[in-house]
Amino acid sequence: MRTQVGIIGAGPAGLLLSHLLHLRGIESVVLESRTREQIESTIRAGVLEQGTMDLLSESGVGARMKAEGALHHGFELAYEGKRRRIDLTGLTGHAITVYAQHEVIKDLVAARVEAGAPCCSASPRRRYTASIPPPRRSASRIKASRANSSATS
Ligand SMILES: Cc1cc2nc3c(=O)[nH]c(=O)nc-3n(C[C@H](O)[C@H](O)[C@H](O)COP(=O)(O)OP(=O)(O)OC[C@H]3O[C@@H](n4cnc5c(N)ncnc54)[C@H](O)[C@@H]3O)c2cc1C
Repeated sequence: MRTQVGIIGAGPAGLLLSHLLHLRGIESVVLESRTREQIESTIRAGVLEQGTMDLLSESGVGARMKAEGALHHGFELAYEGKRRRIDLTGLTGHAITVYAQHEVIKDLVAARVEAGAPCCSASPRRRYTASIPPPRRSASRIKASRANSSATS
């Protein structure tokens, strides 16, 4: 495979970089040691700050974040029996969105796949390939699909 840029790791940084490069006409390949299924289901961060929200929206991958994320303009600190509101928007003009990191990953992988870009491999470390493996199918679904294909052939 020939490509202009190789990116190691399909975390939010690698995937977003690949997406931003694509928007500027620079093709890249993202090499990942875990499967697509694994990266899309690893629970990690949950809070997106304003700069990230803006970047995802401006680059066309923020629709689900806007629709499904929880926008917060502040939060409360409880101390010595009193609750004090920290008005983020009032103080800074910015807000935050609670939207799980693995959902951001799903949106970014979907954008890469839609652009026809290879991304993310299930191969062990040091042996990279550049394709997204299909999600693993359960044994019963595989059996059912084999039964269907032999019935139709
Ligand atoms: C519990 C927790 C809560 C957090 N909460 C927040 C939060 O609320 N807000 C926030 O902004 N941040 C939060 N963070 C931090 C945030 O998750 C990280 O900043 C973010 O994941 C970093 O993204 P990344 O793409 O740089 O790296 P990663 O997400 O670590 O992605 C790196 C990818 O590279 C792959 N990889 C690594 N080495 C190799 C290799 N040699 N070859 C191939 N692939 C490789 C890994 O499998 C992984 O998929 C939290 C983190 C944790 C753990």
